[in-house]
Amino acid sequence: MPWGNLLCASSILLSGGCASQVLRMFKFMKMPIFSMDTFINIQRCYTVPSCLKVWHEHQSSLLERVGENPLVLGGDGRCDTPGHCAKYGTYTLMDLRDRRILDIQLVQSNEVKNSHHMELEGLKRGLSFLEEKGCSIKEVITDRHVSVKKYMREQHKDKEHYFDVWHVTKGVGKKLEAAAKKPGCAAVRPWIKSTTNHMYWVAASCKDDPDLKVDKWLSVINHVANKHEGHSSKFKQCEHGPLTEERLWLKEGSKPYKAFMEVVSSGYLVRDLPNLSPVYQTFALEVFHSVVNHFAPKNTHYFYAAMMARMFLAALHFNENGNREQATDQVGNSRWKMMYPKSKKGEEAVVKPVKQQVTFNYAEDLQRAVIERRKALPNYTSARKDADKQFHRTPLPLTKSFKPVVKKDLVTQQKSRFLMPK
Ligand SMILES: [Zn+2]
Repeated sequence: MPWGNLLCASSILLSGGCASQVLRMFKFMKMPIFSMDTFINIQRCYTVPSCLKVWHEHQSSLLERVGENPLVLGGDGRCDTPGHCAKYGTYTLMDLRDRRILDIQLVQSNEVKNSHHMELEGLKRGLSFLEEKGCSIKEVITDRHVSVKKYMREQHKDKEHYFDVWHVTKGVGKKLEAAAKKPGCAAVRPWIKSTTNHMYWVAASCKDDPDLKVDKWLSVINHVANKHEGHSSKFKQCEHGPLTEERLWLKEGSKPYKAFMEVVSSGYLVRDLPNLSPVYQTFALEVFHSVVNHFAPKNTHYFYAAMMARMFLAALHFNENGNREQATDQVGNSRWKMMYPKSKKGEEAVVKPVKQQVTFNYAEDLQRAVIERRKALPNYTSARKDADKQFHRTPLPLTKSFKPVVKKDLVTQQKSRFLMPK
């Protein structure tokens, strides 16, 4: 195999590129290039095993640095397709103090009862992996996934399990929006934003006092009706100053007031309030998921090993670039960019800091690992044998559980179905 083929094929994967598009580009330029089959062979025999090696080395050094220090972990799952037919679920555990990914687990839907169970399975595997490596896990912050809540409560009593505030406010915001759509309830709408902001304040201002969190949260029901005192024993009165501006207060007992109260005081929500995460949130995991989308777009299918390699690449990229500082101009001023976010419907501009340039040191490490592997295993046969050893526990393809069909029969069926009447 020419070295150029090896380096070109691995660069396609390392850049998160789509092989068929890159190969087509070469074809349009009339430049000779290897076939898709060769790309797949190189990927399987050389690039994927090298990605795994570099990630595992990186992960080991991260875990060594963490040592026995108590960890605050953020966890979140991602499905490769929206809806109910996802093939892969990935579960990421991040050290939230350091904003670095410590572990990612890939779960294929046929390893569990159905695709809904992939998230919990990923979390289970991730936590037991980190504990086996000697990590001391103090807090875990996730969304309010029902099975995750139950599992943490029953199996990890020694850890604090908190909910990411953004996930909770998103749910409350949606429910209030639905309430505002009910006939005669439009008066709820002006209160949605301030109610979700109130939740952030509740989470951040109560330290770890569960009753205070509940009381402060429920005080908003009085506040929207222009009552700012006499809330409860733990939270007697609102902490805002005198209100000079006129607000669109809700009338106690009115239809919109009742609809608002129903959402805010729902038993399911109130039960979870004590577990609102006071300090750390999982926003960085959302950022990481957008990096995964670059390396493994949801509209492309990848085989298990390639999916795993792309996930690890995303993690290496994130860990190298996730904590970049704000860039400065030539005279040392911080740089900002102006944006018109979709969520504000283009009506409001915001500024965001311009970060320093991304770096790709991990890609150099990976290229080096590919070259070393090629030197150690100079032909496909030996490299494939070695790669297969690493993937001996790969789950069976989904098609293995399907009823076998004969292609010829399908062709006959297809032809008869689309037969044009004469
Ligand atoms: Zn008030």
